[in-house]
Amino acid sequence: GIELANVNKYFDKNHVLKNVNLKIEDGEFMTLLGPSGCGKTTTLRIISGLEDPEIGLLTIGGKNIVNGEDKFYTPPSKRGLNLVFQSYALWPHMTVFENVSFGLEQKKMKKAEIRLKVEDSLQRMQIKNLMNRYPSELSGGQQQRVAIARAIVTEPKVLLLDEPLSNLDAKLRIEMRTELKRLHRDLKTTIVYVTHDQEEALTLSTRISVFFDGEIVQSDTPQKLYRAPNDLRVAKFIGNPT
Ligand code: ATP
Repeated sequence: GIELANVNKYFDKNHVLKNVNLKIEDGEFMTLLGPSGCGKTTTLRIISGLEDPEIGLLTIGGKNIVNGEDKFYTPPSKRGLNLVFQSYALWPHMTVFENVSFGLEQKKMKKAEIRLKVEDSLQRMQIKNLMNRYPSELSGGQQQRVAIARAIVTEPKVLLLDEPLSNLDAKLRIEMRTELKRLHRDLKTTIVYVTHDQEEALTLSTRISVFFDGEIVQSDTPQKLYRAPNDLRVAKFIGNPT
């Protein structure tokens, strides 16, 4: 699992994470939900190592990864994570196939095996027909799906997804939800998912942590959050303000 204990993050005087405590079990689909600017992305960036906390402790699989006092530090590449950003940088000089296969080539896998795995990932994202195109020849939503395919092809233990469906039209967004659920079930990957879309969170997650203003207000299953919000802000945000 992944655990953040008492994590605090500042950008200058801006206290963007305030004593964040979060425990994500292996195999969970954990969504960080909340309005814009509440600290979801920063939390994901701390897990991945793109940001470090000023105070607090991050452990992954029981291993100390980073703490505020810099007593120990595990670099991003050694954390066993795979990250897909809202802005998914693809290699512009590589085709879709090459973008997705890149991570496998590094592992010195056989060509035929690489091909099978890449095609399977592209198929899941419904973009196999775009295999030979370059990123500049794709729509934003298609590029976003290439980024997800690239992330899942290496079958990472943990997948960090930051608003991965934000550029898709409504129909495709619903289809991709189903695909993400299937991925989570098939690959048994732990997924940490950032969104400000309540409905997306409620349909996808095994648990949701609701953020407001740098704090986690409630962590619970979708059913519990909906039926028994412990805070008026949660109730309003989840859409059951009674
Ligand atoms: P969104 O849904 O809009 O992406 P979020 O909940 O993911 O929002 P964060 O991106 O984590 O929010 O930002 C939390 C706060 O930290 C915001 O006030 C933001 O302006 C600030 N912030 C984020 N990154 C930086 C940075 N690199 N430098 C300074 N301030 C930052």
